[in-house]
Amino acid sequence: MKLIFEKGAPGQHLSLLPACDVPEVEIVSPRAEAPELPHLSETELTRHYTALAKRVHGVNDGFYPLGSCTMKYNPKINEDMANLPGFTNIHPLQPEETVQGCLEVLHTSAKLLGEITGMDAMTFQPAAGAHGEFTGLLLIKAYHKNRGDEKRTKIIIPDSAHGTNPASAVMAGFTVVNVPSGPDGCVDVEALRSAVGPDTAGLMLTNPNTVGIFDRNILEITKIIHDAGGLCYYDGANLNAVMGVVRPGDMGFDVIHLNLHKTFSTPHGGGGPGAGAVGCKALLAPFLPGPVVEETENGCHLAVPEHSIGRVKNFCGNFGVVVRALTYVLTLGQEGIPEAAKNAVLNANYMMKRLSEKYTMAYAGPCMHEFVMDLQDLKAATGCSAMDIAKGLLDHGIHPPTMYFPLIVHEALMIEPTETESRETMDEACDVFLALWDLAHENPQALHDAPTRTPVRRLDEVGAARNPVLKYTPND
Ligand SMILES: *Cc1c(COP(=O)(O)O)cnc(C)c1O
Repeated sequence: MKLIFEKGAPGQHLSLLPACDVPEVEIVSPRAEAPELPHLSETELTRHYTALAKRVHGVNDGFYPLGSCTMKYNPKINEDMANLPGFTNIHPLQPEETVQGCLEVLHTSAKLLGEITGMDAMTFQPAAGAHGEFTGLLLIKAYHKNRGDEKRTKIIIPDSAHGTNPASAVMAGFTVVNVPSGPDGCVDVEALRSAVGPDTAGLMLTNPNTVGIFDRNILEITKIIHDAGGLCYYDGANLNAVMGVVRPGDMGFDVIHLNLHKTFSTPHGGGGPGAGAVGCKALLAPFLPGPVVEETENGCHLAVPEHSIGRVKNFCGNFGVVVRALTYVLTLGQEGIPEAAKNAVLNANYMMKRLSEKYTMAYAGPCMHEFVMDLQDLKAATGCSAMDIAKGLLDHGIHPPTMYFPLIVHEALMIEPTETESRETMDEACDVFLALWDLAHENPQALHDAPTRTPVRRLDEVGAARNPVLKYTPND
């Protein structure tokens, strides 16, 4: 397929614009020459993007069991709400009294998501999950600093953590201390006990963790950290398993981020915009980025918390994402939110059970919203790897699960069906997974050759990562 820059010819363009009827102004541009933009008619442009859209696989095309990332169907009414003119035709610098509805959206969302997570205050400024982690860690840092306790430089992170956790801790100026997981996939409590000390700033953890296991020692774990003088950070990127069922605040966590673009309805995978809402207990609220919305008798106001760490993004963050999350929470309500979580867990256990007929599970069930398969034995017996199975799935219209993550499981495939898939869809997917297991034994070469029915075959993924070509150069 040709790039849009390789299509069209000078003179072909959209000529619907009326002639200019105001004085022309010369635009001062730092460019030496005009950019080489393609010249296409509306028909060509529409066909180009329609062709591209047909080559993409999304939740609207088929099953997308991407573990850790909650690729679920998001009700379209959430899009309609986010598109209401009162939300889209506003300017962030408008006087407060003219945007009271929008401020109320932020205020109500903070209240409801606070209720779901067990937190007292929230900011919607961070643009994504990792950005939320960074913000939450800065809150922890500011908290210790404000108490004059500046020797706390270490953040403890289990080895099953999402890769963004240690990266965010380092960016926030901390040193990372890794704690190992036990054979059950949970934190090794004794190792944690010996890792804490007067230099412990805090812990970053997700529960259920990235292998889909709920850590039963969670109260003991957060107590060990608190007793050592540290604070507990909950990676709530994916809250699908527990929302409305248990609250991170009740597990002993002081600060959390939520990926509104995973659990709370903004579709993701296309690169944004997202929102990594950060909630915290009252002790961290004075440090939140400003402005936050305060409700008074005379309506909602924007205010900067007393010891604010400052802004982490312009204005109030990606507002449309918050509108979608609020719509989602209000539509599902007090019964619907836990029901979605329980169905996510039920679906994952259903698939785990069916697939364990042939595949080896990394950890014994039951699981929470996702589970991890360990394909080392399949690879040893047939030569077919987790990558080969993933490529085989593509030929059946299924997006592969998360591969080779978490790092503590080798040949990992991590599956998260989500609550929005029917039993029929999951059964079809299980049939495909099981058929590929048989194919690996009967004709491994067929799997090494997969995919054969996709627009492109196997790509050089290492090459693409090491030598990314991100810019089009004419006549290259
Ligand atoms: C997705 C994810 C993140 C990172 O979120 P981004 O929005 O991609 O920055 C962090 N932690 C976990 C557990 C996740 O699943």
